[in-house]
Amino acid sequence: MKECVEKGETPFFINATAGTTVMGAFDPIDEISVLAKKYNCWLHVDGSWGGSVAFSENVLREKNWLKGSHVADTFTMNPHKLLGVPLQCSMLLTPHEGNLLFAKHNTLKADYLFHGNPYDLGEGTLGCGRRPDAAKMFLTWQYYGRQGLGDRIDQALATASKFSQRVKERSSRGFRLVKDPCPFLQICFWYIPPSMAKLPEADLDLSKITRTLHKKINESGEFMIDYAPLAGVPDFFRIVINAPSVDCDRDLVRLLDCIERHGQEIEWA
Ligand SMILES: *Cc1c(COP(=O)(O)O)cnc(C)c1O
Repeated sequence: MKECVEKGETPFFINATAGTTVMGAFDPIDEISVLAKKYNCWLHVDGSWGGSVAFSENVLREKNWLKGSHVADTFTMNPHKLLGVPLQCSMLLTPHEGNLLFAKHNTLKADYLFHGNPYDLGEGTLGCGRRPDAAKMFLTWQYYGRQGLGDRIDQALATASKFSQRVKERSSRGFRLVKDPCPFLQICFWYIPPSMAKLPEADLDLSKITRTLHKKINESGEFMIDYAPLAGVPDFFRIVINAPSVDCDRDLVRLLDCIERHGQEIEWA
């Protein structure tokens, strides 16, 4: 920021992420917000994935994940991700006069439709013929209540914590967490088959092992899983915990067994 100002540039926007897509990291919004104010920048918080934790009283009390977000100028949240609201349901929240702010910047000035009613949302969106997706969030909230949605988050966190523990317990059998502890609901790990356990680190192609196993397991029909790339490290398995119907010991431990079984069956050249 200092460098920009010294060069005569004008920083005007900071994006902080609450829950990154791959690993689930939370930026220190509190500290970033101080800089944003100091430099008169618009502070946006991308809470598309992690913003929904706002419904959990436990998270708000025990973690600093959303701390500072109350001074954000805009905040995005996708209830279709963590809260189980049917696709799609994305929102952009602001403490500013949202209807005026969005209308001012997005309006198409369709005078044949809009006649200056400041609460007419049609003026504030890029496309005016869209479903009122917020109604789905409204109904979900009515049905489950804040407590119900908070419980959903708490349960996902408990399952994620338990599953990452199960992965760690298998470290002597070739499982290795990418980051320990896992920052959020994504359990990211590598698996090294026993036939390769003795290879020097430099000869291990973990990306190839991950991708080969990923393909084999998905083709087997036993599980449908994903893997992720991340700059600087080999590709890894990425299991995202969300659905309350998934149980760690009943469902997810079987996935670890499945990875091991295929890892032992494949003839690694
Ligand atoms: C999913 C996701 C997005 C994309 O959200 P859309 O509403 O589909 O554009 C943006 N940021 C993060 C951190 C996400 O996880």
